[in-house]
Amino acid sequence: MKVLIIEDHQELARNINDFLVKEGYICEQCCTLEAAREKLSLFQYDCILLDIGLPDGNGIHLLDLIRTEYKQSNVVIISARNAVDDKIIGLEKGADDYLTKPFHLAELHARIRAVYRRKNLGGTYIVEFNEIRLNTDTFEALIGETPLDVTRKEFDLLLYFIVNKNRVLSRQSIAAHLWGDYTDNLANFDFVYQHVKNLRRKIGNAGGTDYISTVYGLGYKFNAHKEAET
Ligand code: CA
Repeated sequence: MKVLIIEDHQELARNINDFLVKEGYICEQCCTLEAAREKLSLFQYDCILLDIGLPDGNGIHLLDLIRTEYKQSNVVIISARNAVDDKIIGLEKGADDYLTKPFHLAELHARIRAVYRRKNLGGTYIVEFNEIRLNTDTFEALIGETPLDVTRKEFDLLLYFIVNKNRVLSRQSIAAHLWGDYTDNLANFDFVYQHVKNLRRKIGNAGGTDYISTVYGLGYKFNAHKEAET
């Protein structure tokens, strides 16, 4: 999961970043509204952590933009203010949750996961598709009863495919989702090809159906309508 941390308190931003990176997230940081607008125009994020008090304005101003232009992003407001007004306005304008500083990083992490589960996974931490079963809490994957021995990147890749099934995913969007924005500087996305190849091989070895196909010149697609092979 890819997270944008919009927070001008540098130490807090760094602590959040370090904590979430250790948990396997891809994190980007910025500390002004202007920088946030630029990031949002260039990249996609699964979750946005939004501070209210920013040097160039109120973080709430970003919510209208996010709700109209970047609907796929979940938003958790992190605010020093405990004003009920801020909270109500934030939630009315489409924030998914609200956390008042100071907070424990584990609490923030729990909220991020809860919001993601509620909005992206239909409220459950188990994601199932035919014979594939993913536990997004423990990162265990099963093909039927057979454990799928995947790395964390491969797990996230498979989850990304299933959540976006029947949609063509470009190698660039896969790279950005799994490795962060700086992959734009790389000359090519051959490493995506390698990861997809490894994932397909492991699913095949575990007896699963090969739902993933290459879409020539575009990227990859997880084909939900493909019949399970016997
Ligand atoms: Ca602030």
